[in-house]
Amino acid sequence: EAPEVSEAPEAPEAPVVPEASYVQSLSAPLDVRIESFETKRSSQYTRYVATKEDISDDEIKEQLSLFEKKDKNEINPDDIHIVGQVFKTYWIMEWNDNMYMIDQHAAHEKVYYERFVKRFNDNEVYSQQLLIPLVLPLNINQANTLREHMELFTKLGFEFSEFGNNEFALHGVPLELCGVDEVEFFIEIIDKMTMYEGRNLSQAEIYKPVCEKIATMACKAAIKGNMAITEDEFKALIVEMFKLENPYNCPHGRPTTISMSKYEIEKKFKRIV
Ligand SMILES: [Zn+2]
Repeated sequence: EAPEVSEAPEAPEAPVVPEASYVQSLSAPLDVRIESFETKRSSQYTRYVATKEDISDDEIKEQLSLFEKKDKNEINPDDIHIVGQVFKTYWIMEWNDNMYMIDQHAAHEKVYYERFVKRFNDNEVYSQQLLIPLVLPLNINQANTLREHMELFTKLGFEFSEFGNNEFALHGVPLELCGVDEVEFFIEIIDKMTMYEGRNLSQAEIYKPVCEKIATMACKAAIKGNMAITEDEFKALIVEMFKLENPYNCPHGRPTTISMSKYEIEKKFKRIV
């Protein structure tokens, strides 16, 4: 029943950026506010299927937007009132005349994902040197992919050199992969990109499998539902999350947050009509 269970690493899901989010709609005029206590999922969500034909330009633009810098909304932690937690997974808090219910896993996954993408964007994915270089025997296709996209893998924080015979020596790995196996991450991205080889890729298309792998990594690394975190840890997490351009959906498009305004609550209790 935990949402993360359904996310096998090979699940063909792409990170998506919905245009409208439920919480944003709260600033709309009262008569267009959504009344039900549920999250409005954007009809623009699209699922990724790994064929070129299925990658629409719109989707690629959405992917690319993940790599653009945006203005942030600041949230003052002192203004947040944490009410508590239900089912050891969902936090309830009050802020700005709204009640929020936040899935700790989705929120953490979102923050990890955006943090890594930002570092990638800013060329700030640092490497950690391996004491003993790791020799990876690749197949010919994997080796070609790696040769062709060396720059991208370097940007991801991998340092390597060719060893001959399609063997590569890995000298450095990304510093902050949040506990995810670096070699597995490396190979999985190579394999994903190998699937696209010979297809004359645009930069957005090249980034697509990388986005997916980062999303999977973030999902694996994030705290799960039912895992204990303190109120302070949660607060730090959501302060970071609310700074994001779109904090309301995880990289897979699921909601991080559902909310209900004071107005909606008062309406439901018929204090106002
Ligand atoms: Zn997840």
